[in-house]
Amino acid sequence: MTNSILHKYIHEFKNLQIDRAHGNAPHQPVLLFAAIELIEQGQISENKVLPSPELMEIFMKYWTKVTERQPNIALPFYHLSKRSFWHLHPNPGYEKALEVVTQIKTVTRLREIVAYASFDNDLFLLLTEPKTREIIRQTIINTYLAAFKEEIQNLIFEEQQIGEYSQKILQQVEREFSVLQQEESTQAENPIRKRAFRLTIMRIYEYTCAVCRLHILTLDGKSVTEAAHIIPLKKSYNNDVRNGISLCRLHHWAFDEGMISFSDTYKVIVSELMSERGPEEWKLTTLSDKGILLPERKELYPAQDALAWHREKVFRG
Ligand SMILES: [Zn+2]
Repeated sequence: MTNSILHKYIHEFKNLQIDRAHGNAPHQPVLLFAAIELIEQGQISENKVLPSPELMEIFMKYWTKVTERQPNIALPFYHLSKRSFWHLHPNPGYEKALEVVTQIKTVTRLREIVAYASFDNDLFLLLTEPKTREIIRQTIINTYLAAFKEEIQNLIFEEQQIGEYSQKILQQVEREFSVLQQEESTQAENPIRKRAFRLTIMRIYEYTCAVCRLHILTLDGKSVTEAAHIIPLKKSYNNDVRNGISLCRLHHWAFDEGMISFSDTYKVIVSELMSERGPEEWKLTTLSDKGILLPERKELYPAQDALAWHREKVFRG
């Protein structure tokens, strides 16, 4: 039974649309790849694929490996709905709009109209099962991306490591936070772990600056926000998520330079030991006493010990 269902979808996946007229533009295979990866990482646990920054970021990672063309995730996200296995679900109020559109060309429009996509339920089950997921993934590679097989396999392996490390640092919150060194320096600074830390913090704060709430994403998933270590990595080698916070580039700089810090009630404290000029809304002094954006889950809040450390050792008070 499962075999015949698997067979049916393998056939579907061997017949995805590829824009061969404009060189190789494997939008659909790469989008499916990204969705499969989020399922593998446990980021997609129910049958809903959101047009999220995470999806775009993974899409871009594979995209840049296989083509130099400009990416546009909106195209395959919409056009896959012409296949019988991919279903689009409108945002409330956009039911009619989704019925009448014939294409969606931008991510902004996609997000406006579409809440999420879902797979056929039996296909989703196959994708949650490691064995069948791998068969489907290999089908996509062999059919469309065979020339890049090695790079793709390396990326998949890297992504699996990122996923595992991300799980590990999320599970750390079950233990009490410690300002002491948590890992060997070489381990903590390993590029995979750095990326996993960044990605985990970005997901917790939804790619938004905790200080000013700025959220800017490029179409290819690059963000104005960065994952800041509260106790700097070089001092603590501590990638605990409670030692992290999402900050835009300006506020990351101001935080690392000790121009701003956070109180034990999660409010911004601003140093008086500086001079600043410029538009009022950009000045650091206007942030004084402003509450910072906090994660939904309390156990992921920045650790009080880390904030105290920053106030004492970095903040120029
Ligand atoms: Zn900011």
